[in-house]
Order: sequence, then structure tokens, then C-alpha cells
Amino acid sequence: MAEQYDAIIIGAGIIGACTALELARKGQRTLNVDRLPAAGYGSTGASCAIIRTYYSTYEGCAMAWEGYHYWKDWSDYLATEDERGTAHFYNTGCLIMKTDKNRYLEPVCRYMDELDIPWETWGPEQINARMPFYDLRHFAPVKRPDDDGFGIPAGAAPLSAVFFPCGGYINDPQLATHNVQRAAEALGAEFRFNQTVTEIRRDGDRVAGVTLASGARIDAPVVVNVAGPHSGKVNRMAGVEDEMRVKTRALRQEVCHVPAPPGFDYEHDAMVTSDSDIGCYGRPETGNHILIGSEDPECDEREWVDPDHYQHEFSEQWQTQVMRYAQRIPKLGIPSHPKGVVDLYDVSDDWIPIYDKSDLPGYYMAIGTSGNQFKNAPVAGEMMAELIEYCQAGHDHDAEPLRFTLRHTGREIDLSFCSRLREINAASSFSVLG
Ligand SMILES: Cc1cc2nc3c(=O)[nH]c(=O)nc-3n(C[C@H](O)[C@H](O)[C@H](O)COP(=O)(O)OP(=O)(O)OC[C@H]3O[C@@H](n4cnc5c(N)ncnc54)[C@H](O)[C@@H]3O)c2cc1C
Repeated sequence: MAEQYDAIIIGAGIIGACTALELARKGQRTLNVDRLPAAGYGSTGASCAIIRTYYSTYEGCAMAWEGYHYWKDWSDYLATEDERGTAHFYNTGCLIMKTDKNRYLEPVCRYMDELDIPWETWGPEQINARMPFYDLRHFAPVKRPDDDGFGIPAGAAPLSAVFFPCGGYINDPQLATHNVQRAAEALGAEFRFNQTVTEIRRDGDRVAGVTLASGARIDAPVVVNVAGPHSGKVNRMAGVEDEMRVKTRALRQEVCHVPAPPGFDYEHDAMVTSDSDIGCYGRPETGNHILIGSEDPECDEREWVDPDHYQHEFSEQWQTQVMRYAQRIPKLGIPSHPKGVVDLYDVSDDWIPIYDKSDLPGYYMAIGTSGNQFKNAPVAGEMMAELIEYCQAGHDHDAEPLRFTLRHTGREIDLSFCSRLREINAASSFSVLG
């Protein structure tokens, strides 16, 4: 006889783990199945785990602001000890350069005001008081190193920025996921690793459970796709992708890990940075290092890949990103041995996540996290648990979308914002910025 659970969650990344925790808090008996050996070993483990509040939509900002409150009081959220210790949130603040591309952050700051999220304008003097090593000349439009004019500054006045004091990064995203696993297990949730889901089974017109590569069958009236960059494959397995207006696919990314130049205490003086003038974001990393990610500028070709077959080694993109960042820190060395991570985003058509049901009753999805949902995982976990409860009770979320109240900030979000059936959201940045 097949094993039986109330809900099977495909994936044990940060969002899969948070979904398990919130379902367990509602008294559900859950099982997370993951093809990898431990929680948070997929794209979560590669995450820069930046916590910030600015997005290009009101709902994006509201969710991120809510998420900030969970990370700030991480132990309260978990309400359990983890024998490995707890992940740490470094509240460095976030510095976003004002550029043409982000319309000098005017729309974003309007959302900040609506949501009571603090922000400050920083002129060049204020930026250089904190980071004297930062070159604030203009380099836009973003170029590739071989392009004419790369690294040659233009424009007269130095850049200014908006500083968001509530933001920073989590030092160890994998440990954070393990923390959530332990919190869920304390409530009876189960996790199974090194097991791949190969079939989503139906009983009549409802989902019935999953079959694993080992042949084992596990039954549940609820199955949740939280498979990260494999989300599209899992949806095709379930036969639900065709009816979705917004779909997902895997995008290859490189993040560079480089030492700060000697004499610069980047680890303590710097903060999270987002810089559309050079097409990079960055953050301090332990050992006075810098993590440098890409903001997906138009001049870079996007590498859509099969999540089971892609190039795991660094390419020339690694050097491109470091050279772009070196425009801000001219003394930045370029190590001969690239370090960092190569991993995948699970990108939706408008870079906004899909937290939704499907046309197959009992089958749900928390996907399309587009390189920007680590910070929202605890919020997404609560949304998914409430959505599942709402739909399993017979409500039609497509016709009458669930309105979700954010616990810390008290704001309400219409969850059709994250629907698989939405029109492409034209307000999106169509990049990792969401
Ligand atoms: C390089 C990089 C940098 C990022 N930086 C940030 C950041 O700074 N801030 C931020 O907020 N977000 C960031 N993100 C995004 C964030 O990390 C993700 O949105 C988040 O981790 C997704 O979590 P998840 O649980 O949905 O997916 P994942 O962590 O990918 O977990 C999915 C799991 O599903 C499992 N799985 C897949 N298919 C199957 C199957 N058939 N059977 C069993 N198991 C299966 C996989 O093994 C995997 O463990 C970044 C992402 C990357 C890749």
C-alpha cells in the first residue's frame, strides 16, 4: 500500500521548507521530497540571500518589507533550536544608484512612502564618507569589456543614490533552510532526500500523489511544486503547463566572489549595492570579500538552459562582471582563478513569482522565483499554506482570488498578483530586481 500524507512538497529549498513549516503549523502532515542530499542544496544554496525592500511593483515591495521582519527576528519565526546554530542577518542597508534606467528611483520611493518603508537620499559626499573607495562617475550604458568606451566615464555630476536602511543579507542560506527544516520537523513534518519525483499521479480529475524514481508511490490529496529551476519540468509532468499564461524556465547565472582590495574594509564599511549604471549588484562577504552578481543588462545574452544539462564552469561572463564592478572600485584585482557560483534562476515570463493553484485540483505551485524570492520565502510559505487551505475548502481562487493579510505589516495583498493566469505585468523590471 502507498504511504499517505496530507501534502507532498516537491523540493526542499527555502520556499519548499517554509511551505512545509506553515502547513505543519496548520496541523497538516507533510512530506518534502528532494532529489539532492539535504535541504537548501539547490538554487537556495547558491543564493546571494540579499534582503531588500525595493521592487518595481507595490505588491513586490509589500511582500519584501514583510519578509524583512521575519529575517530580523529569525529565531522568533523558527521557534525551535537547530543543533547547527541559526543563520545570521547582517543589516548593512542597501545602496541603490539613481539612474535613468530606474527613473531615479522615483516610482520605487513612492511605494516606500505608501508602505512606510524608510529610505534616504544620499549624495556623493555621503556615499564617499562611508565608502571612500567608490568611484561615482557615470559608465552607462552598460557595455561588454570588448565594446568601445568600456570603462570610460561620461557625464559631469557624480551619481547619487537612495539608501534603504532596512536591508542586508543572510550569511548562510543553506543553514537558514536547515533551520526551517528543523522547525517544521519539530511539528511532525518529514523530509526525504536523494529521491526524485518522476510522476504526478491522478485519481479521476484530482491529483492523487507522486511516484519516485525508486518506484515508490506516495499518496496525498495535495501536491505542491516548489522545484526551483525544475519547476517547468515538474509542471509538464503534471500536465498543467499548457493552461498557464505565465510560464517558467531556467536561466544560467554566475556570481563572482573576489577579495576586496587591500586597505578597504569592504566587509564592515560597505553594504548591499545595486547599480544599473554598471549592471551589477554586490554585497560584502566574509573574509573581506565581495560578491558580484549581474543585473541582466540588455548587452548580455540570456542563457536559457535545460536545468539538467548546463555548463557548470565559469565563462567569460565572470570576468565581465568583475570588470564592471572595477569601474566603481578601480583598485579591484581580477583573480586568475575565478571563484563564486554558477547556478540557475527559475524565471517567470515577467520575473514575478507564481504562487498559485493549477487546473488540476489539489496541485499547487510556488515557482518562478526569478532570482529574487529568497527574502520572501517565509511570506511565500504562509501564502501557500493559506492558499491551499482556501482552495481545499472549495473556494475558486481563480474567480475569487484570496486576499492575504501580511502578518507583521498588516497590509493586504490580492494574490491574483501571483496568478499563473495573469497578464504579463508590464510594471516589472523584467530582471532580477523583480
Ligand atoms: C545565483 C543566485 C543568486 C540569488 N540571489 C538572491 C538574493 O540575493 N536575494 C533573493 O531574495 N533571492 C536570490 N536568489 C533567488 C533565491 O535563491 C530563490 O528564489 C530561492 O532560493 C528559491 O527557493 P526554492 O525553494 O523555490 O527553490 P530551490 O532552492 O531551487 O529548491 C528546489 C528543490 O527542488 C528539488 N527538485 C527539483 N526537481 C525535483 C524532483 N523532480 N524531485 C525531487 N526534488 C526535485 C531540487 O533538488 C531543489 O533542491 C538567487 C538565486 C540564485 C541562483
